[in-house]
Amino acid sequence: MKFESVRQWQGTADALTKELKHQIKHLRLSVEPPALRTVRAWRAKQLLSQPKGEEFGFRQILEGLATILLLKKGWTLAAIAQVLPSFSADTLELQILAEAQGQDPTWLPTITTTSLPLPTGHRPPTDLAEDAVVLLAQGIIRQYDRVLPGQQIVRQEDSTLPPELYQAMCKLGRLYIEEGQCDRAACVHTVLDNARYPLGSERWGLGIFSQSDFRFSNATIIDPDLRVPTSDCAEIANLSSGFGENNVIEHRLYTDLCDATQRLGGRRQHKAYTALRELFGRYSLIGQRQLFDYLVDNDLTPLQGMILDNFFDLVPDIWLIDGLANRCAHCGTLMRPHPNNRLFSEGRCPIRQCIGHELPKVSEKLDPNEDILRIAKPQILTYWTGPAIDELAIFDTARQNGLDAELYPESDLCDIAINEKVIGIDAKSYTSPVTLALRLNRSIGGLIYYRRRILAVSDRLIEDNPSYISTLKSTLDKKGDAASLEIMSVSSVIEFLQKIPYANQT
Ligand SMILES: [Zn+2]
Repeated sequence: MKFESVRQWQGTADALTKELKHQIKHLRLSVEPPALRTVRAWRAKQLLSQPKGEEFGFRQILEGLATILLLKKGWTLAAIAQVLPSFSADTLELQILAEAQGQDPTWLPTITTTSLPLPTGHRPPTDLAEDAVVLLAQGIIRQYDRVLPGQQIVRQEDSTLPPELYQAMCKLGRLYIEEGQCDRAACVHTVLDNARYPLGSERWGLGIFSQSDFRFSNATIIDPDLRVPTSDCAEIANLSSGFGENNVIEHRLYTDLCDATQRLGGRRQHKAYTALRELFGRYSLIGQRQLFDYLVDNDLTPLQGMILDNFFDLVPDIWLIDGLANRCAHCGTLMRPHPNNRLFSEGRCPIRQCIGHELPKVSEKLDPNEDILRIAKPQILTYWTGPAIDELAIFDTARQNGLDAELYPESDLCDIAINEKVIGIDAKSYTSPVTLALRLNRSIGGLIYYRRRILAVSDRLIEDNPSYISTLKSTLDKKGDAASLEIMSVSSVIEFLQKIPYANQT
């Protein structure tokens, strides 16, 4: 066995750091060895289980190696700390050796719902509900990452469910049972299906989620049609420190796009960024010829391969209607066949922010035999195409009124800048005003660089929830950057921009 020489090993934190480095090399694990400081931090967080004042032993070598391997798989330290104690040293050893042989073993221990510790003391049930929702959001983002390459499908018996999702199901199950209902969270498919509806809705049927003191009643975790975790989901997942911005889909998309445009260097970089975001906003369904023309016109040809691979899919046959791709007259994207043949005989726009989601209208029908048709990937549609409806409406109004307006300036400092740094506008379409406020309380982003900072809320969200703006305002910090924001509906921003030229003349 590989570990024979260290079974009786004992040593300090420094010695353990060296031993981990040695073992990583010896086992040929493709991970970075931790620094001494990191090993100490793991001890403080009880990932390394030796009692205080005692030397580290063989068990801690295994725990250290397991921690490094699990971090690489995207686990959080919190999740690792929960799971490690349930593995015996023998199991840890086998798991690590399986990793060394590139077998990608399953790390979920066999825990049952009943073995979960019951909460001690009198924690309010809303805390349990909120914990469940944070874990659910985190688990769904992890699950999404796994199904992204299209290789894995979600299976109930699957012991490779992300630990956060598994824990969320346990906590949700307890909420149902405490409300005297049967456990409606026992099946992962039901939970993922329900996540496409607001937490406070009938669909979930949990009393505690619809109570007025539950902050996230209005939040929807997964986009109902595009099946991508929402911005609300990302914000909720981030509530527990340690989940980290890097796990958030929008952040990764943004980084991908910046990495790509950076290769163009200098001034071209920001221009290219804007041109690509505008492409995803206006032409998410596009024929290959038109796409190549657009890339040539905007000096983007060097990025052609990357753009095709990373941001677009071929239009699949199942989304054609009578052999044609129907374009939404409102936002320009591909309409999808819908089971309701009476209302949506020509398909339904999958974008929740689009009028065409409820009132379908086709502007043109493209023949896939005449040109290769491409559609922006679902995560692009969710994070960029949908929000772009409001952003472009604001930008186009500003331009039509002769204002000096810029779209996504300096690689997304804000959505629309007017007169350089005089006014910055961000349009937001979080379904929950509370998650939006949490986001802004954390940071108002690039708006900080503008003298007037306007936050535009989608009119459709206000129609659905008339108290949206007042809830948002009451949840925003009264001091700090968030307090400097002017909150308006998109339609009032548009009215305001239409009046600016007159105001300037006086
Ligand atoms: Zn549409």
